[in-house]
Amino acid sequence: MRRTFVAGNWKMNGSKAENQSRLEALVAALGQRQDIDMAVFPSMPYVAQCQQILGGSTVAWGAQNVSEHTGGAFTGETSSQMLRDFECRYVLVGHSERRELFAESNQQVAEKFKAAVDSELVPVLCVGETLEQREAGETQRIISEQIEAVLSLVGSDVFANGVVAYEPVWAIGTGKTASPEQAQEVHSAIRAQLAEANIAMAEAMQILYGGSVKPENAAAIFAQQDVDGALVGGASLKAEDFIAICDAA
Ligand code: PGA
Repeated sequence: MRRTFVAGNWKMNGSKAENQSRLEALVAALGQRQDIDMAVFPSMPYVAQCQQILGGSTVAWGAQNVSEHTGGAFTGETSSQMLRDFECRYVLVGHSERRELFAESNQQVAEKFKAAVDSELVPVLCVGETLEQREAGETQRIISEQIEAVLSLVGSDVFANGVVAYEPVWAIGTGKTASPEQAQEVHSAIRAQLAEANIAMAEAMQILYGGSVKPENAAAIFAQQDVDGALVGGASLKAEDFIAICDAA
């Protein structure tokens, strides 16, 4: 049985005061839950605030990005060891906004994934197709290439300590959710691809869906056989919505 994982990607939002009330609400409502995995992903300066408020609760925290380098002259970057220093459990790698707006290639994303694994962070590899790619019938090929880049750099067992988040780019922040059936179709293809590398790993690993997940649609998405949770953007900024999504799990 795979545990459900609900992750909140705050993107470049929040302030110390806003975060504090959101985090305190999460601790009060969710902080003792043992039946699901939960994490929030703040902007870099607030990682320490998450450690301070969430520490001792069952809600984990992580960063939205990490450098593929271990240290040195890389102005503006943050290493995986630094994230460990603040007790991050997870890190997002290859979010579509990073791929599109910051030109991260499959190769660079694979290197970031490797850096995370090397520091014993759990990377959450985000994959997904654009609307254009979906309409051209390229969904499976695009996602398979995004995953293959990681498998070939890091090895076939990599997802024993990793998570995949399927996020169709056309569903992110648009209010358009993939139908539960569309999500299931891609999730089962991802699991099948990983099963070729390692069957036991593929069966055990969590594959999250992301893209306009809200309290109203979460239960139907979670009901799909190969959907093991959600990566939530917009709705994770409201504590009551994030809590409601956790309650739907
Ligand atoms: P959204 O974002 O829930 O606002 O669509 C999801 C994400 O980008 O992780």
